[in-house]
Amino acid sequence: MIDNKQKKLWIDGQEVDGDAGVAPLVSINPATGAVNHEVAAAGSAAADAAVRSADEAARAPAWRGMLPAQRARILARIADGMEARGEELAQLQMLENGKVWRECQAQVKSAAATFRYYAGVCETTGSEVTPARGDYLSMAVYEPYGVVAAITPWNSPMTMEAQKVAPALAAGNAVVLKPSEITPSTGLVLGQIALAAGLPPGLLNVLPGTGHEVGAALVAHPKVRLVSFTGGTESGRRIAEVAARKLMPVALELGGKSPHIVFNDASVDAAVAAIAGGIFEGSGQSCVSGSRAFVQRGVYAQVVEKLVATARALRVDLPDRPGAEMGPLATFAHRDRVAAMVEAARRAGAEILTGGARPDQAQLDSGAYYLPTVISGIDNRADIAQQEIFGPVLCVIPFDDEEDLITQANDSAFGLASGIWTADYQRAWRVARALEAGTVWINTYKQLSISTPFGGFKESGIGREKGISGMRLYQQPKGIYFGMGA
Ligand code: NAD
Repeated sequence: MIDNKQKKLWIDGQEVDGDAGVAPLVSINPATGAVNHEVAAAGSAAADAAVRSADEAARAPAWRGMLPAQRARILARIADGMEARGEELAQLQMLENGKVWRECQAQVKSAAATFRYYAGVCETTGSEVTPARGDYLSMAVYEPYGVVAAITPWNSPMTMEAQKVAPALAAGNAVVLKPSEITPSTGLVLGQIALAAGLPPGLLNVLPGTGHEVGAALVAHPKVRLVSFTGGTESGRRIAEVAARKLMPVALELGGKSPHIVFNDASVDAAVAAIAGGIFEGSGQSCVSGSRAFVQRGVYAQVVEKLVATARALRVDLPDRPGAEMGPLATFAHRDRVAAMVEAARRAGAEILTGGARPDQAQLDSGAYYLPTVISGIDNRADIAQQEIFGPVLCVIPFDDEEDLITQANDSAFGLASGIWTADYQRAWRVARALEAGTVWINTYKQLSISTPFGGFKESGIGREKGISGMRLYQQPKGIYFGMGA
């Protein structure tokens, strides 16, 4: 089903060779260490060609004048196309980032649903007549920016790509997508699917390549008028600096170190299952991983014991094995970085209650695996509790009262997500309002809905994706006045 010949860039509805002098990307399967395939890489010349094609397509009267219902129809067809090629997409993601098969399949469905949702938003969200303040009719209409650069990470490429491409197209823009160098292939398939769905060439160009080559060239390009970025906080900061000089808006979805809180009155078993799922699913490579578990003293020992037992029972295996619950990390370098952070914590006096090592099964020897790890004996100021690890590593920290908890939970540079487990709904409300986080889950965790705004406080980002405002992110309001006087 998947061929092994070198994959090419996607510009103006066609496959195009990579830039001369820019080395192709070599995709490695993190589950086995085997080479998957090569992918042509873009540099500044391809960035320029893609942006020019997108600019022309964005200005074309056929696209500018296309009725929202027609745009919606194309978006819905893209959703159908993703589902029709769902097995191939899921397999490409599994080969490139090692996520378990069931999660890859779920992410295809989620990405397709995002296109369908924005088809609905596109068709049903209109201009507004603003309240009259004189002898005129005043309106707010919403215009596209033109060319949007969408830059995505490797942990969940399909869902992140859909989350940017669908609303940006719904809003009437053209998009140049720059997928992560680790996971370039699903975006390339999306380009083909969009063309087959009737999206005119140039409205979605896809440029695999590195951040410092094609990513930076796109951000700096004068015809790119908005960058929508998901990735690490330091990359986001660099992009924002360039955007500031261009006076260009940016949407940044960045890192996290999310607190997952258990009060004494919580349902302990449900909380433990959610904490384990919230940090170990996807090998912890999720921006919303609940990586700091704060547990009230009365249930601390019980929760820690159950968390350790749950972590030990998790099945770490090749991602295509039925029943595999955790695959490898996405790259060997990333696995080594995670291992080094845990080692540094151990040297600084942390207690590694379980994990903290590679698995010892022979069939996992050649992959980038790391065991689910639970760490205690630290406080919230420890490096391991402050830095984003982006791996299957949970820090467990006790707390005494609500005030102390809120101070500790908010004592982080990040503010992406959080979870609260309690039977007291008034406390749940109080704590939810006090937490500095873009998402709060109460007696649940990692529920994600395309219709609910998502984004970060503090260094976790700027702007909100998803929901109706997720389409408005890609539009600029314009006031129009019709004189009604004589
Ligand atoms: P990364 O920042 O290294 O790379 C993300 C993307 O940006 C890649 O496509 C990369 O090539 C590109 N890039 C890097 N530097 C660039 C630059 N200077 N100019 C333009 N493009 C550049 O992040 P990653 O390692 O791929 O992903 C992991 C990070 O992403 C974690 O910090 C994680 O928390 C974050 N993340 C956040 C969310 C969210 O919604 N908040 C979701 C997923 C991942």
